[in-house]
Amino acid sequence: MKLRLRGVWLVAPLLVSLACRTTSATSSIVRQVDVDGDGRTDRFEVLASDGSLERLIEAPLPDSDPDQVLVVAIDAVRYEIFADLQREGLFNSFFPASRMVAPFPSLTNVSFTALLKTRPSAAYEDRFYDPVENRIGGGMMDRLTSRYKEFADFHSVFDWEEPHLWGGAAYFVPERVSWAELLEFERQLDSRDDPELVLYLGSPDPLGHMRGRTGLEKYLRHVDRVLEAYLAAGGGARRVVLFSDHGMSDAPSRMFDLDNALEDGGFNLRDRIESPKDVVAPAYGLVGSIQLYTWCGSEEAVARAVAKYSGADFAVWLEGDTMRAVDADGDTTLRDRPSDEYPNLVERVHQALTNHTQRPASVLVSLDDGYHYGSRFFDGIVNIQGTHGSARYTSSVGFLASNVDRTPEWLSAEEVYPYLGLTRPPESGVPAATRCYSGPDGAEEVVDWGGSPSPISSITVEDEPYDREAR
Ligand SMILES: [Zn+2]
Repeated sequence: MKLRLRGVWLVAPLLVSLACRTTSATSSIVRQVDVDGDGRTDRFEVLASDGSLERLIEAPLPDSDPDQVLVVAIDAVRYEIFADLQREGLFNSFFPASRMVAPFPSLTNVSFTALLKTRPSAAYEDRFYDPVENRIGGGMMDRLTSRYKEFADFHSVFDWEEPHLWGGAAYFVPERVSWAELLEFERQLDSRDDPELVLYLGSPDPLGHMRGRTGLEKYLRHVDRVLEAYLAAGGGARRVVLFSDHGMSDAPSRMFDLDNALEDGGFNLRDRIESPKDVVAPAYGLVGSIQLYTWCGSEEAVARAVAKYSGADFAVWLEGDTMRAVDADGDTTLRDRPSDEYPNLVERVHQALTNHTQRPASVLVSLDDGYHYGSRFFDGIVNIQGTHGSARYTSSVGFLASNVDRTPEWLSAEEVYPYLGLTRPPESGVPAATRCYSGPDGAEEVVDWGGSPSPISSITVEDEPYDREAR
């Protein structure tokens, strides 16, 4: 059992200040010393019970490139939660965290694909629609048989992640699963000496959905304790980087009524597409976005039907290479939305339609806070306290913290990889061109619903460079 005496004080023997945090274990005491007063621990002094120095661990010099690396990916932690804990004195072995802007939709597979620079995942989530075979694949059965890793390449980067059955169990007993994960996290850190070690803590995602900020904060306090012991035991000399894949809203939400939204527009929600009126939504978790697959030519009519329904924020689709968008008021360029509520919106939405996954959606929908869409089964058993997936700030902004680099105040998921210090070369891949169903033999039949033919906006990445200074 560990007894912690937490305190900060200054000692100024020369011209340097020493800010120390002291941790006492049964037989030794750990002092964390900030020699240069920049807020990051510079060395760990492990003292024996008689006060003599037992071990000294020096943290890497800022901006150096240590040979050994520990990367810990923590699912679904919003920037504010981590930053508030740092202000409280936790995670003080790291420089102040950056705001990491996740791609849109702010979903696990999409975000990790961008963060870890792996080949595009099968789709936005582990359940997907294949417009070539006209069928839904993946889902909970593949989760149970561990096949889901085949659909999302980023899992191969992790040296350890929770056993596959824990993901579903976490929705029934979130505290128990997250506690078991923390114990295993500690065991992994104690037992492994890989020069590069990448660990993934997945249980905070369901914990945040079900317990909101309170549950996530409690979990992170344990992560801090485990890491602190690891760093003082010698790990503190490594490059250590923590990051999350997206944020998490902090309010109860209810299911968006997609069936009725489509029905009012003359469409049907189906598992496969047999006619231009059929739409597929491969529902999986309970998230703030909807990925829709349509008959080729039905995109605009489907987007308009869904966007005007209560709970939808906006819907987007591609017309040729041009991104089109619509909300409850009609056509929009999305450019009038405030960047503090929708960070880097236009670029992220455009990438969502063209990047990240092997099967880009025909239509993407971002939901208002207070709404989610997904698995009816989970909706029946889970009282949602927060979610992610939408383009809004709370869902989209995670964190990045390093003990080596002073990372920028803001950065996008695509900019994170160099800070991780991994030797694995980044990968890439081109998403399939097929983003809609074109008939049983890939027939050329494309439906013209008579929508407005003129492009509203032609979006390129250069149109809206990522402006960190403005935030
Ligand atoms: Zn996630």
